[in-house]
Amino acid sequence: MLSNLKDLPLYDLAVIGGGINGVGIANDAAGRGLSVFLCEKDDFASHTSSASSKLIHGGLRYLEHFEFRLVREALAEREVLMAKAPHIIRPLRFVLPHRPHLRPAWLIRSGLFLYDYLGKREKLPASRKLVLDHQGPLKQNIVLGFEYSDCAVDDARLVILNAIQAREKGAELVTRTECIAAEVIDDVWLLTLRHQQTQYQICAKALVNAAGPWVERFLKETLKLTSPYKIRQIQGSHLIVPKLYEGNYAYILQNEDRRIVFTIPYLHEYTLIGTTDQIYQGDLEQVEITQQEVEYLLAVVNLHFENSLIQSDIIETFSGVRPLCDDESDQPSAVTRDYTLAMTRVNGAVPLLSVFGGKLTTYRRLAESALDELNCYFPELRPEWTEHEPLPGGEYFKSMESLIRGIQLRIKNIPLEIATRWANSYGTRVWQLLREIYSFDDFGINFGHGLYQLEVDYLIKVEWVQSVDDILWRRSKLGLKFNGAEIVLLDNYLQNVLGNQQSKIA
Ligand SMILES: Cc1cc2nc3c(=O)[nH]c(=O)nc-3n(C[C@H](O)[C@H](O)[C@H](O)COP(=O)(O)OP(=O)(O)OC[C@H]3O[C@@H](n4cnc5c(N)ncnc54)[C@H](O)[C@@H]3O)c2cc1C
Repeated sequence: MLSNLKDLPLYDLAVIGGGINGVGIANDAAGRGLSVFLCEKDDFASHTSSASSKLIHGGLRYLEHFEFRLVREALAEREVLMAKAPHIIRPLRFVLPHRPHLRPAWLIRSGLFLYDYLGKREKLPASRKLVLDHQGPLKQNIVLGFEYSDCAVDDARLVILNAIQAREKGAELVTRTECIAAEVIDDVWLLTLRHQQTQYQICAKALVNAAGPWVERFLKETLKLTSPYKIRQIQGSHLIVPKLYEGNYAYILQNEDRRIVFTIPYLHEYTLIGTTDQIYQGDLEQVEITQQEVEYLLAVVNLHFENSLIQSDIIETFSGVRPLCDDESDQPSAVTRDYTLAMTRVNGAVPLLSVFGGKLTTYRRLAESALDELNCYFPELRPEWTEHEPLPGGEYFKSMESLIRGIQLRIKNIPLEIATRWANSYGTRVWQLLREIYSFDDFGINFGHGLYQLEVDYLIKVEWVQSVDDILWRRSKLGLKFNGAEIVLLDNYLQNVLGNQQSKIA
């Protein structure tokens, strides 16, 4: 299949991969005036970017591996990102129970001192020592602890907000579209894309490979090039259990193997527990928690908390693969979490930028570095802009309380649960969702658990929703509540609406 190149759309930049890194780069580039195309083979954030611990954090434990560059950058990003998206990113206090045989108190105090002052911090409170009084959830033998700040994020929504912003700045983003071939012809990239049963082609002056765990495979198998770096695929898994303890604190637990495990308050009624680090060699499309990981996580929690957990307490699990740049570390947990950008000039001059590694926390800085690399090819590039511009829903945001109150004033009788979820998910874009809606009676079909036709239609129109999983696991986390019959009802509705859209296009 070779089209006449002149007849094909030509973009400045084509980005492969709709995880946080690809979408972050597409957004930044579009805002600087480039014409951008991005393709994602599944849904946005359907792989690593929705399987994280959901933290915007400096990474306290990376200090032990002397990753000062990464930690400094990540620490400073906490407040930048919180200001950009206050509806999906919130401050979180962590308690680190002291276990003297693992790390002495002086070492932890020094680490926390660095953590407080290494990166810019104006709003998040500093760390402090804690004397534990046995009123808390921890075991009685833990008498000392330390408290410090980081942030929690809705990871999948961070990706979606960047995708929406990229589109508003002129980028074209498509999901369920795989790049199956790419080659340089006449000094441009010619990309072959597959969407369902159809194939089509586009051209781009530069290509960004942000395929996450597929980055190396994309280079070797699709581009037929040698990869400049190797990737280490490290699986990490999480458990979701009913709220393990009261209060808003997260805990960072030190395990005997010197790894750490977080317990994080999650969606008001759950606790998120994770994560693990193990080499992964299986199918990247089907990453699942292993029995060994389940036992490991339960054991760490049970070593620390008075309330002990058993396997039947687990409501849900999820797993992802970290696409880490191979630094030949012995232990999976020691492999660098920093990112590396590799610029290759294909056929002499045509740029290909590949992203290896990276954190959700540093996606914005990674995108800026990517654009720095591409600057020489696009001298007309406008200056950096992402540090201060809010993400969709973060505009004119005063506080979560005032937004929830505003929704309640607009829609009388709206259940608090829905108003709260909407404020957290959509921020001030909730007024787009509620455009021309003034009454609860106008919400349409009730799919259960506060999900109504109004929201589903909005998600299809504005947030690229194509399937039940897109709604229940990535645009929201209502999947934790929906039963089989409710899923069928929602699926039938989606098939109907999306089917009608298809036939109108045909
Ligand atoms: C267990 C775990 C916990 C973590 N916790 C945190 C945390 O708390 N905080 C933090 O900052 N970071 C965390 N991370 C790291 C962070 O989640 C990842 O670094 C980040 O999500 C990687 O994003 P990505 O865009 O590179 O990859 P991905 O999100 O995997 O996106 C790559 C995308 O490329 C698509 N793709 C691949 N090939 C093609 C193709 N040929 N055509 C079209 N599309 C293609 C894939 O479908 C995929 O969606 C964690 C990671 C894991 C695994």
